[in-house]
Amino acid sequence: MRSIQYYFNLAAKVATPTNELDYLKTYWFGTVGIRSDSTIVCAKNIPVALEPTLGNRMVGNKLIPNHKQKIAHSEYRTLRKLNKWATAMFVVRISKEAYARGNIEYKMARPCENCSSAIVAKEIGRVYYTISDSQYGLFIPGNDSDSTFEF
Ligand SMILES: [Zn+2]
Repeated sequence: MRSIQYYFNLAAKVATPTNELDYLKTYWFGTVGIRSDSTIVCAKNIPVALEPTLGNRMVGNKLIPNHKQKIAHSEYRTLRKLNKWATAMFVVRISKEAYARGNIEYKMARPCENCSSAIVAKEIGRVYYTISDSQYGLFIPGNDSDSTFEF
């Protein structure tokens, strides 16, 4: 396995917008996963309004997206490509404001409760996530613990 920073950089590239739909999103997330056979998989989050199956509701003729629905989340989308007992996941959120200024800046990317449950169920080894440019977190699903580290 390469360095943590290497995979965070990779996940930040995945989070980077590549089409106009990405600009509809409130958050820019990218996740990289390492299968137990060392295959690398990845996904970014998609606009929740594009996933009409779960949780969104109509009020009059206006679609109210449910941002808590995990199916649109990069972690969950990556998890679907990972085998049980996969080695690790790296979750990055980049700042839209900083990106507009030409910089990549890390923001809090701790997986939500729904994604965390799915991660625990699949018994993923380790989940690294960005907190800020100076800190990252490590979630160990096996014992449901979180630790914070400095870059
Ligand atoms: Zn989630």
